[in-house]
Amino acid sequence: MEVDYLIVGQGLAGSLLGWLLLNEKCRILIVDTGRSNASRVAAGLINPVTGMRLVKTDRVETLLPDAIDLYQRLEGIFRQPFYRQLPMLRLLHSSDESQQVQRRCRDSAYSAYLGPIIPREQIDSRLTAPFGAVLQKQTGYLSTVPLLDCLKKYFIADGSYLQCRFDYQQLHIDNQLIRWRQYRAKNIVFCEGYRCRDNPWFSWLPMQPVKGEILTLETEETLPETMINSGNWLIPLDAHQFRTGATFDRTRLDELPTGAGRQQLLEALAAFCPFVQKPRIIAQQAGVRPCTRDKKPFLGSHPQYPHLYIFNGFGAKGSLQIPYYARRFRDFLLSARLLPASASIQRCHAAHFPG
Ligand SMILES: Cc1cc2nc3c(=O)[nH]c(=O)nc-3n(C[C@H](O)[C@H](O)[C@H](O)COP(=O)(O)OP(=O)(O)OC[C@H]3O[C@@H](n4cnc5c(N)ncnc54)[C@H](O)[C@@H]3O)c2cc1C
Repeated sequence: MEVDYLIVGQGLAGSLLGWLLLNEKCRILIVDTGRSNASRVAAGLINPVTGMRLVKTDRVETLLPDAIDLYQRLEGIFRQPFYRQLPMLRLLHSSDESQQVQRRCRDSAYSAYLGPIIPREQIDSRLTAPFGAVLQKQTGYLSTVPLLDCLKKYFIADGSYLQCRFDYQQLHIDNQLIRWRQYRAKNIVFCEGYRCRDNPWFSWLPMQPVKGEILTLETEETLPETMINSGNWLIPLDAHQFRTGATFDRTRLDELPTGAGRQQLLEALAAFCPFVQKPRIIAQQAGVRPCTRDKKPFLGSHPQYPHLYIFNGFGAKGSLQIPYYARRFRDFLLSARLLPASASIQRCHAAHFPG
C-alpha cells in the first residue's frame, strides 16, 4: 500500500493537516492510538489577547480569520456547529490590572479586541470584580470532540485511518522511500503532540509540555451569557452547564485527573464566581499541552532525513494557530513555499546539528 503522506497523530494538528492534504488529492494514512489527547480535553478557547498583561497573540490578525474560515468550511461540510463566537468578560482584581487594561484600551492595535472598561456597578453583581471588567471581543470556543469525531469518521470512510500505536522501530528509511509495516510512504509527518519526546528523530527539539486539568460542571443557578475570565475561566455550554479550567503543571506529565487539580479549580471558581454553589461534577479531564520553550510552533523537515517532517508545538493555543499553520505547512509540502521563520525548526538546528 502506497501513500504520499503517513501522518502520526489524529489530534487537531494531524487532523486539519490531513484534511487539507486530502483536499489536494494526496493519498494519506493517519495513524493514531485512538485514545484521548490534548485536543479532545482542551476547552478550545480562542482569545486574541491573553495573559496577566493582556498581550495580543503574535500574527493574530492572520491566525484568527484563517481559523474561523476553516472551521466554518468544516461546519458547512459536516453540517454541524463547531466554533461558537462568544464574548468574554475579563474581571479586574487590582488597580495595577485596571491601569494595564486602560493602557491597552488606548492602544489602537487593541481596539478590535478590547471594549472599554465596564465599571463594577454595571457588572453582574454575582461576579467578583472589585475593579470592574473589560469585554474581550472576537473570542469564542471550538468544540473539539465533535470536530475530531467527524474528521475521524471521514478518514475511516476514505480508508485513510489506522488505529494503532506507531512503533518507531518499525520505520525503515531508504533513500527516497519510507517503509512502515506493509505501507510505503513518500513522506511522514509527525503530529504526536507532547509525545514527540519519544520520537527518535525529533526528541531533540526543546519542548516544554504542560499538563492541564479541566472540569465540566452543572449548577442550579443561571449562568452568565458571556465567557468569564479571571485567570481561570468559565465557559457556559448552556444555561446551567459549563467548563472551568485550567491548571498548569510542568512536573507530572500524564493524562490522569487528580484530587489536587479538582480542588484547585473549584477554589478558583468559588473566588471569581461565588454564586455557583455546590456545582455537580459532570467530568474531570486531564491532558498535556505540547508547549515549546520559546512558545513558537515546531514546523519543518529533519535536517538529515528530508522526508521526515514535524508539525507540532502549538502549546496552549492550538485552536487559534493550527488552521493557519496547517495551510502554510501544506504549501510548504506541496509547493515548497517557505515556512514562517519564527515557526520553522531551523531556528533550533544550530544547537543540535552544528555545521
Ligand atoms: C487542559 C488543556 C486545556 C487546553 N485549552 C486550550 C484552549 O482553551 N484553547 C486552545 O487553543 N488550546 C487549548 N489546549 C491546547 C490544545 O489542546 C493543543 O494546542 C492542541 O490540541 C494540540 O494538538 P496536537 O494535535 O498537536 O496534539 P494532541 O491533541 O495531543 O494529539 C496528538 C495525537 O498523537 C497521537 N500519538 C502520539 N504518539 C503516537 C504514536 N506513537 N502512535 C500513534 N499515535 C500517537 C496521540 O494519541 C494523539 O491523539 C489545551 C490543552 C489542555 C491539555
